[in-house]
Amino acid sequence: MIRFSVARLEKEPIELVGEEPAEFLEIEPSELLTVSAPVHYDLVVKAVSGGALVEGEIGTELTGVCGRCLTPVTREIANDRICLFLELGDADEIDISEELRSELLLELPMTLLCSEECRGLCPECGCNRNTTRCNCKGTSAGPSCWDALDNLKL
Ligand SMILES: [Zn+2]
Ligand SMILES: [Zn+2]
Repeated sequence: MIRFSVARLEKEPIELVGEEPAEFLEIEPSELLTVSAPVHYDLVVKAVSGGALVEGEIGTELTGVCGRCLTPVTREIANDRICLFLELGDADEIDISEELRSELLLELPMTLLCSEECRGLCPECGCNRNTTRCNCKGTSAGPSCWDALDNLKL
């Protein structure tokens, strides 16, 4: 839980620096994507008119496989533009775990890629086209059925 005391905030800005376990993000670990490091945060909470402002950053590390070529990938993700306004109400302590989880989930890629330019696997021979140059024509349709069609026309 990431939280702060309202009484203390009324006296001074609060620095929140620390770590939460990887489970904080509530992402079911899989071969494709696992949160592989603790979630670290470095935040400052300030009292502002009508509430509190939370600024800073939150980040972690993902491990999985590239969605195109299946190579293992480890990638850091972080949101360093956190700027949350909170109404304080009358609670003694404010828990900002939910808000911060959402802020970090914004940075989660739709698909983990080894690089934006990844050329993926050859649909014909299955080789990794980033490292291997094969002689396939590069069409995704199987070549054999089209060859058969050509033969029929003849
Ligand atoms: Zn790749
Ligand atoms: Zn090939």
